[in-house]
Amino acid sequence: MKKTLIFIVPLILLFGAFLLVPKVATLSSAHRELLIIAPYLSAVTGMLLSVHFHRGRPFTALLLLNVAYYLYRSYLLEGVTGLAPQGVFLAMLLLIPFNFALLALMREKGVLSVAGRLRLGFIAIQAATVWLVFRHHFEEMLPNLTRRLINVSPLDTLLIPQPLLALSLAFVLLMVILTIRRQAPIESGLLGALAALLIAFAQVTTSDFPPLFCTTAAIIITLSILQDSYNMAFRDDLTGIPSRRALNEALHGVGRRYVIAMLDVDHFKRFNDTHGHDVGDQVLKMVAKKMLSVSGGGKAYRYGGEEFTILFSGKRIADALPHLESVRKNIEEYRLSIRSDDRPKDPKQGEGKRGNRGGSTEVSVTISIGVAEYGEDHGSTAEVMKAADKALYRAKSKGRNQVCT
Ligand code: GH3
Ligand code: MG
Ligand code: MG
Repeated sequence: MKKTLIFIVPLILLFGAFLLVPKVATLSSAHRELLIIAPYLSAVTGMLLSVHFHRGRPFTALLLLNVAYYLYRSYLLEGVTGLAPQGVFLAMLLLIPFNFALLALMREKGVLSVAGRLRLGFIAIQAATVWLVFRHHFEEMLPNLTRRLINVSPLDTLLIPQPLLALSLAFVLLMVILTIRRQAPIESGLLGALAALLIAFAQVTTSDFPPLFCTTAAIIITLSILQDSYNMAFRDDLTGIPSRRALNEALHGVGRRYVIAMLDVDHFKRFNDTHGHDVGDQVLKMVAKKMLSVSGGGKAYRYGGEEFTILFSGKRIADALPHLESVRKNIEEYRLSIRSDDRPKDPKQGEGKRGNRGGSTEVSVTISIGVAEYGEDHGSTAEVMKAADKALYRAKSKGRNQVCT
């Protein structure tokens, strides 16, 4: 359920666009003219933001959106009758879902990087190919492209031909899976924008739909760029959990009852020396994941290096202790399998336990935890943090792998 929250922004915007449909009909002619250029304005705004934040994928999607809307204005205002409008309509239905799905699959490579330019070149080649094929063989292909696969309403009256609808829905499904797995705003934005464009295509003969839903598509992508940049600033790159900056933000609004736990991996320098920095990174990811699933309403942050913080708001130390104890125990008991070739060639002896199992080795770590709460002794977040740090130091000096208050 939590994983579907990533769809919330596109869904709200699409829903909002549907609510606006009846209002558009009552617009004055000046506002209507504004609506007609709104897709260009919003897409160009998004493209400028993409350049600013070095996001090549949304940039390309917005460029495609501009082209699609331009083609709509040039060929489809009178409907989809006649060979040229039909050709343009079907070409867009072939190319846009495919390229949006491809963009969602790709890694982010920036706007004007080699990969970014190759991507634009590849799209131009596709467009040229479709244009050439359609130019010579469109009439022969038309019956296949528009073949009716099933005869149920409203599918049989839909403007989008069934084979292309099926293809588009397959791409949509692929993007849904991808978005849920990656939990990434750009993927979710590309998917929402594709949905908006498909709605515009499906209602291409209703004059208000294309400008309204193309604008919605551009806004969805633009918001996803902002959301992605926000995540970049507040999420730790290595572990994917909230960063120290996010902790500072959370502490601003935390109220007068809370517990702060500082957690630190034991002998991690030695662990790195023994197993290598890459294995160290894998361990930090594992530790972060365990902390993220802390019970009792705790929220985990990477404070820096191999130090983490868990904030329990509205709780006292006694409430938080059992949950911290179970995090400590979970991490102690976890065995991380690493490939043997991940190990450095000549490992020195270290703290991490090791055992051979075929081509892989198992490693484990422990953590120490210091806890403090807001109260008479510690009346500011800085003081609570300091007290938690002191408690952590006590946990270390008492032999590590324990929780101290
Ligand atoms: P203690 O039990 O007292 O905490 O010992 P320690 O070795 O963990 O303490 P110390 O603070 O001296 O060392 C922290 C080490 O964590 C140093 C550094 O090599 C490692 N470290 C910090 N950040 C990262 C990271 O992002 N990846 C990896 N692999 N190691 C990191
Ligand atoms: Mg440390
Ligand atoms: Mg440490």
